[in-house]
Amino acid sequence: MTATQPPEVLISEVGLRDGLQSVKTTMATADKLAWLDALVAAGLQELEVGSFVPAHLLPQMADTAEVVRHALTHPDLTVMALVPNVRGAEVALRAGVHKLTIPVSASAAHSMANVRKTREDMVAEVRAIVALKNQLAPHVKVEAGISTAFGCTLQGAVSEDDVVWLAEAVVQAGADETGLSDTTGMANPAQVRRLFQRVRAAVGEHTGAAHMHNTRGLGLVNCLAAYDVGVRTFDSSLAGLGGCPYAPGASGNVVTEDLVFMFEAMGIHTGVDLDRLFAARAPLQRGLPHEPLYGMTPEAGLPKGWV
Ligand code: ZN
Repeated sequence: MTATQPPEVLISEVGLRDGLQSVKTTMATADKLAWLDALVAAGLQELEVGSFVPAHLLPQMADTAEVVRHALTHPDLTVMALVPNVRGAEVALRAGVHKLTIPVSASAAHSMANVRKTREDMVAEVRAIVALKNQLAPHVKVEAGISTAFGCTLQGAVSEDDVVWLAEAVVQAGADETGLSDTTGMANPAQVRRLFQRVRAAVGEHTGAAHMHNTRGLGLVNCLAAYDVGVRTFDSSLAGLGGCPYAPGASGNVVTEDLVFMFEAMGIHTGVDLDRLFAARAPLQRGLPHEPLYGMTPEAGLPKGWV
């Protein structure tokens, strides 16, 4: 396998957004930029670099426009940002992002608690964001990430019919892609296979990323289950940043290093260099010296003879 071979799976690194958002400490902008550069140097092609939300709600994300500006200096990098509403989308589009991701909750209870909107209201928000982007920057892609797709800590089980309905609704509203997120770490591989297959049957090539969490240790097997049914984009976070404070030792997001190792060991090309990926942990640790870093592969090292 050569460096020029196109990747067979896309690893979408979400540490700068999902990871930093769940850490109380705010990482200094300069540290974010150094970390971002190290992630790009490792070969990651898509980064979710922040979210456009009011700074008083999430001070960790107050400098997202500046991070976007810097990210755009890397040619060939897809720069993504999370936007919860039209207002955030407008700022993101003016900052020049390539891709917007909108969280839409499959759980009615989580939707009200998280964004104080019903699911139907969020579908309308997706439609409004798509209309705005068609006006301001038609080349920009819109992803609607369906959160709590596999279960919800507030309401418990989430109906699979609801997830499929929502996937169809956001695609009808104009989203280019709809991915499934295991926000609460409740998914299992059988469920992941079944639900991605149902979503693919409903929306075809609009099926987007698998965003799995490792809360109960099933992050990687859930990614593999999604791969087996045709998913080719995977969200993960370097060092599993965004670890759950209520479950010491358990990381939240799937660890990018372990995910890349799994695919590369299987002969599935990711375009990511593992040694450089390990090296990207140093600027992360410099920026957040008190934050634990997770990952089995960086701790064990690469197997003897690994090339
Ligand atoms: Zn996550």
